Amino acid sequence: MTPTTAAPTRVLVVEDEESFVDALVVSLEREGFAITVARDGLEALERFEQEEPDLVLLDVMLPKMSGIDVCRSIRSRSQVPIIMVSARATELDTVVGLEVGADDYVSKPYRFRELVSRMRAVLRRRNNSASDEDHPPGESVRAEERSALTVGEVSLDTARHECVVRGEEVKLPLKEFEILETLLESAGRVVTRDNLIDRVWGLDYVGDTKTLDVHIKRLRSRIELDPSKPQLITTIRGVGYRFEAPRR
Ligand code: CA
Repeated sequence: MTPTTAAPTRVLVVEDEESFVDALVVSLEREGFAITVARDGLEALERFEQEEPDLVLLDVMLPKMSGIDVCRSIRSRSQVPIIMVSARATELDTVVGLEVGADDYVSKPYRFRELVSRMRAVLRRRNNSASDEDHPPGESVRAEERSALTVGEVSLDTARHECVVRGEEVKLPLKEFEILETLLESAGRVVTRDNLIDRVWGLDYVGDTKTLDVHIKRLRSRIELDPSKPQLITTIRGVGYRFEAPRR
């Protein structure tokens, strides 16, 4: 595998639940993000100043200063993407209602894959609009905006959980969808078996090592023209799987 030379995306995680934060940090680091943690609202603002992160993951209920106030404060001086996180949907209603300037929001408990998709989506949107002089400051991006992932003839809409292959919609069960999403995000590069299992099942993986192969087989039967000679998802023996990026 070729090592990536791009600087890692720096993420400020603001979260006061100790039991939650360690696992989250490990998982995000595995995704290639560089993580700084703040455990209350005031620390969040300090860390923000020191680290100048590329993205902020911000819990709503925090000691010392609420996530909503932190969001407002950051937004008054920066257009950094902010994703609000809350255990209660009503708090998120408040976030949206007050238009505090967050780019997106997720409610706990969330699927880790969903969080990462949303993070990548806000980063993509921010990068796309970074050079756009017309982009008004403070404009919040609607959560309804779709995050689409397209490689060759395969498209995934992660927000809608839709998959289109060669122009036809294909229904995919959740795990197969997540496997495909993981492979598409790394199209052209090998994803190791361990990485796939970690990212799609996490600690829930209870099956033997064949569980992954069974899912890959089913996924191929749905998206490959000839599942016995897969052209989209190839097996890298002893390592993992690769989604083949089309040659340009
Ligand atoms: Ca909290």
